[in-house]
Amino acid sequence: MDKTFHLEVLTPYRKFYEGDVEEIIVTTTTGQIGILKDHIPLTTPIAQAGTLQIKKDGQWKEAFISGGFMEVRRDGVTILSSAAEWPEEIDIARAQAAKERAEEKLRQKRNKQEYIAAEAALKRALMRLKIAGKYQEM
Ligand code: ATP
Repeated sequence: MDKTFHLEVLTPYRKFYEGDVEEIIVTTTTGQIGILKDHIPLTTPIAQAGTLQIKKDGQWKEAFISGGFMEVRRDGVTILSSAAEWPEEIDIARAQAAKERAEEKLRQKRNKQEYIAAEAALKRALMRLKIAGKYQEM
């Protein structure tokens, strides 16, 4: 019996992923959720900075994902996200620079809005560095 479901991951910049997969694990704002075929319909926000793990043909792949929504329907799953990258696509120098900019903004404590934005930017940068670092160790 076919245990796969259709997954589409879209960002404003590109179609990040489309295919039939066996399982995904996504970091939502309330924690990680695993989705298998025939999961009950669900719409949930995705974390500011997290991972999207995709199992296809028995193999897991992990990507960085940031913000947006996941819609689980009877006929498949759609993720609309602000950004998604495979580990090998992550520009480490850029993430490092983003981390330093965010830390500087947090030190300056100019206003609440900037502080919240800097916290989110720092989370994205740290998660990108973590995912890229894991990949480089392999
Ligand atoms: P930066 O300040 O470096 O732009 P950011 O966290 O604000 O980082 P996002 O808004 O999350 O960036 O993403 C904007 C676009 O840039 C997306 O297409 C995202 O995939 C890409 N991007 C951001 N940072 C990196 C990175 N370190 N490596 C590869 N692509 C990146």
